[in-house]
Amino acid sequence: MRVSFDLDDTLICYGPGTPCEPRPAWYWRAVTSGEPLRHGAAAPMRTLRARGCELWVYTTSHRPPLSVKLWLRAYGVRVRRVVNQDVHDRYLRRTTRDYPPSKNPRAFGIDLHVDDSDGVRMEGEEHGFRVVVVSPDDEGWAAKVLAAVEDAMSGRFRRGA
Ligand SMILES: [Mg+2]
Repeated sequence: MRVSFDLDDTLICYGPGTPCEPRPAWYWRAVTSGEPLRHGAAAPMRTLRARGCELWVYTTSHRPPLSVKLWLRAYGVRVRRVVNQDVHDRYLRRTTRDYPPSKNPRAFGIDLHVDDSDGVRMEGEEHGFRVVVVSPDDEGWAAKVLAAVEDAMSGRFRRGA
């Protein structure tokens, strides 16, 4: 099962109301962007991976994929692939007449996408991909994600339903 995470306001929350994971060791900070990872993100992501999930990042930002991978490695999280805006455009916006949704996880074989945006969830309804929406001030967000993955794994939901 392939699960993707949005970055801004999902894994990276700069708002004062969202606590962050402890900062990684100095040698990691020296080679990564040093952005804060949302509190409670690292352990569930590692759990998902241990359960056989493939973790991806899907962001509309232009952060370089390698730097995002390295940044998460600093927190002990391994992601398989990062889809940023450039990758998205390369795959889904081949001509200027193409108007794909802002994200299309299904086009990348992603089974479940985690995002703060209700707009992305609505795009999912339209284009047939599954989104679990978590807000930056939701302290129980990680449990919500794990529950959604459980649902997906047990086949209790139908894609796009
Ligand atoms: Mg976002």
